Amino acid sequence: MTDRSVHDGASAAPLNHRNSREGTRKRGRKPGIVQYFKEAYSPSRPDPWLNRKFAVGLLFAIAGWCFYVVVGRVCIPVFRGTSTSRFSVATAAGVLAGYVVIFLFLAWSYIRIITTGPGRAIDRVEQTAAPNENHTPFPQQPLQPLPAGDHQSNMLLNGIAPQPGLPSTYDGETAQRRTSDEEEGGAAREVSEFAPAINALHTVLSRQDPPDHHSSSGTLTSQTPQPVVAVGAKRKIPEWQTVERPLPYLHRGPRWCRFCQINKPDRTHHCRHCGTCILQFDHHCPWIGQCVGWANHKFFMTFNFWAIIYWFYHLILLVVYLTQAEVDGQVIGVVALSGLFGIFCFMMLLQHAYLILTGKSTVESFSGRDQQESETRHLNVVFGFWSHRKAKSLVRKKWKEDFGGTAVDERWQAGSRMDMWNREMGEKWYGWIFPLGRPLGDGMHFPSNPRFGPNGEWLKKKDWPKGVE
Ligand SMILES: [Zn+2]
Ligand SMILES: [Zn+2]
Repeated sequence: MTDRSVHDGASAAPLNHRNSREGTRKRGRKPGIVQYFKEAYSPSRPDPWLNRKFAVGLLFAIAGWCFYVVVGRVCIPVFRGTSTSRFSVATAAGVLAGYVVIFLFLAWSYIRIITTGPGRAIDRVEQTAAPNENHTPFPQQPLQPLPAGDHQSNMLLNGIAPQPGLPSTYDGETAQRRTSDEEEGGAAREVSEFAPAINALHTVLSRQDPPDHHSSSGTLTSQTPQPVVAVGAKRKIPEWQTVERPLPYLHRGPRWCRFCQINKPDRTHHCRHCGTCILQFDHHCPWIGQCVGWANHKFFMTFNFWAIIYWFYHLILLVVYLTQAEVDGQVIGVVALSGLFGIFCFMMLLQHAYLILTGKSTVESFSGRDQQESETRHLNVVFGFWSHRKAKSLVRKKWKEDFGGTAVDERWQAGSRMDMWNREMGEKWYGWIFPLGRPLGDGMHFPSNPRFGPNGEWLKKKDWPKGVE
């Protein structure tokens, strides 16, 4: 059977896979624990159900315990006359009514977010064979510094075939973008819940100019060019005007997911935990047991909104209670938990409001940070780590002027802030507070920032379409 299956061309791939397993068994190596984990946590299939849903169960348990403490240990003893606090029956009744209402809204929004999928690309895109060689990602080699002007030869030198879709004025050396998928071998990288805040902080810190920056005045064109400085006998420092910006790699042609065997729509990334491609992937959230993506991002926002109200209601109520009643360990425990979760949810809501208003997903916000790091590295290579701080600052200023101040992660920043908000949160105000409505669009097509080319090229200001400021 084994021999025949080797020659069975029509189903060669799966059978070969089976053969290799049989071969392993024949050699006497049983699939061990490592093999089990490799298969159970393979990016091509969802992680074990218990793993994905564990934190959801934990949240239900925590919510149940909090409910018991507030209702059973704080409010009901007041009605029974056994409470050690000075709460009146009317106060306790009011507190309880408010608590139950908030709890119900929270439960509604939580059930909505755990039952609404993020949008799977496989449900909307047909599977296709692997693209041909022209569409494979380019090798991740650093771009060579090239003389300006001949952009076609620059492209060829960098292993980039000139694409007919590119604007003719577009410099070849600026023509690559590497998505986060390709870095991670096909699946979107792990995203921490606090990634957007960390990325924003990183961007702010790395944008700080060196101290001597402000000593320069006027526009860049009025600056006196820096002389070429010889360092030692071999290395020469180039003039700051000639230093080209290192640009992200550009993935040309369809982005094909080898796990789902589909051409990924824009903004779609593969989640290794869910084992599938997610439309407008944001991050995988263990607290909801699935991904946050195009279809459920708005419910993630409304859930966070109610969670903040819930946790701070708890916190204030129980702190007041503790000042009046006997010490209760369980009440103190819930106070600590409320503070922790309240701050966490508040941070999440702020981060995601910022992301929505700037047209980014969490995973996309990484490209801005990557760009900052690659620019710093590039300048350190060109000018040295410690020296030429003024030249570095001038280069950065020139780059910023060249690109009109657009950041590399602003590809999907299109329209007004309100447009971007409506696109994700829906147009109806009640859908911004309650888990109702749906986002606009289809999760596969998004209006693009006109400051980027059709393939996602980060355009210099001189290449922007007419009328774009
Ligand atoms: Zn996929
Ligand atoms: Zn996921």
